[in-house]
Amino acid sequence: MQPQVIDFHPPAEEAAPILLPVTTTLFADRADRFAALAIGHSLGDWLDFLGQLSRAQHQALKTLPALPLPDAASLEQARTHGMPPLNIAIRPAAWREVLRQIARNLGEDAPDGARKSLDSLLAADDAWLDKLADTLLSGELEAGDAAELPFVAAALQVVFTQLASQLDASQLQQLDAHGVCPCCGSPAVASVVRLGAAINNLRYLHCSLCNTEWNVPRATCTACDTDKEVALQELEGNKGAVRAETCDACQSYLKIVYQEKDPRVDPVADDLATLALDMLVDEAGYQRSGPNLLLIGAYSG
Ligand SMILES: [Zn+2]
Ligand SMILES: [Zn+2]
Repeated sequence: MQPQVIDFHPPAEEAAPILLPVTTTLFADRADRFAALAIGHSLGDWLDFLGQLSRAQHQALKTLPALPLPDAASLEQARTHGMPPLNIAIRPAAWREVLRQIARNLGEDAPDGARKSLDSLLAADDAWLDKLADTLLSGELEAGDAAELPFVAAALQVVFTQLASQLDASQLQQLDAHGVCPCCGSPAVASVVRLGAAINNLRYLHCSLCNTEWNVPRATCTACDTDKEVALQELEGNKGAVRAETCDACQSYLKIVYQEKDPRVDPVADDLATLALDMLVDEAGYQRSGPNLLLIGAYSG
């Protein structure tokens, strides 16, 4: 008689498919990262200012009350239809106050160009601010609005990060389109290969708007799902913490940051500190698949 084999090993802890943003630390950590990356960087002043902007986002989020989520019936309907629960076209009115708070908080320390944009945002009425938000989220930029948009984006990030953090992760599902956020449907800014129990070496895409992360396979294009024609590019002299994953099937790319190389990497801050890598892959003919909302409009000034 064969002895019965009993497996006493507990089942391995399952990796979370979706990581909701941690509101107490997210923007504060990003602010620290921008400040660290600014030191000795050719774009140091700009990165330093983005650190102050992230700090202002942190302050605004700290004082933001819980926001109204869609009702149970809407959440259920979104689930049934494979749609994200948060609709970015429906913004909580609080976003405009968050924007004004960020603009006041940055105050006199802002560089001249930014100061002008912040003053015009503080003087703007609600309708104009909503129009700027529509412009930003539709991706259809008009000349003239550009300089204000990173601040509009910063405020929208705060309210959508708050909303995402209030969702029940166990009720969320990944969408058919792997490249978009399961909470708000926005494209990813970059992906992160994580360190830590249960998520070690797993890759997560990071939402450009609400900072939610969702698990995706490594070495697979996040735009078209092929695993055949992807390659990793990096800048010479780089320590490997930031690479660009290019895909020859769809000619797109997105950056990957590696916590194993530097545990403090941040998908938004490290992305903006490596614009030279974007130039390199742009020149090779690849199109970036997701935006960094703090940069939108910054090129055209
Ligand atoms: Zn999102
Ligand atoms: Zn592809």
